[in-house]
Amino acid sequence: MAETTLDRDPNCLFCKVVAGEIPSNVVREDEALIVFRDINPRAPTHVLAVPRRHIPSAHELTDADGPLLATLFTAMRAVADEAGLGRGYRIVTNVGAAAGQSVDHLHFHLLGGRQMSWPPG
Ligand code: 5GP
Ligand code: ZN
Repeated sequence: MAETTLDRDPNCLFCKVVAGEIPSNVVREDEALIVFRDINPRAPTHVLAVPRRHIPSAHELTDADGPLLATLFTAMRAVADEAGLGRGYRIVTNVGAAAGQSVDHLHFHLLGGRQMSWPPG
């Protein structure tokens, strides 16, 4: 079986967060995902929405992941609503080192609570 289809990578930081082996500040979770606060927030609200299953990045997603993605985006909407981000917020996922991905487990950054600039650096 290819590594990308394994549920867990023993060397992966976010697999350890998902397993509760590394503490995190969880704001939302269900059987498929966890949303927790970024340890180095870049905005007043900065959380990471992460599938429990180990997927290295958005580049490895397939059609079969459609329901998982819908669940992730629904969870992020709920977090945005709870945080009062009605004026707007940003969802971003970095793919690969050149884009700034530093943890190779798919995660969506949800940033809000301040004016965002464009384009990202
Ligand atoms: P990337 O650079 O891969 O797009 O995003 C990784 C994010 O994970 C960074 O914003 C970084 O601050 C965050 N991060 C790294 N290690 C930890 C950790 O142990 N706990 C939490 N909550 N966030 C982390
Ligand atoms: Zn992982």
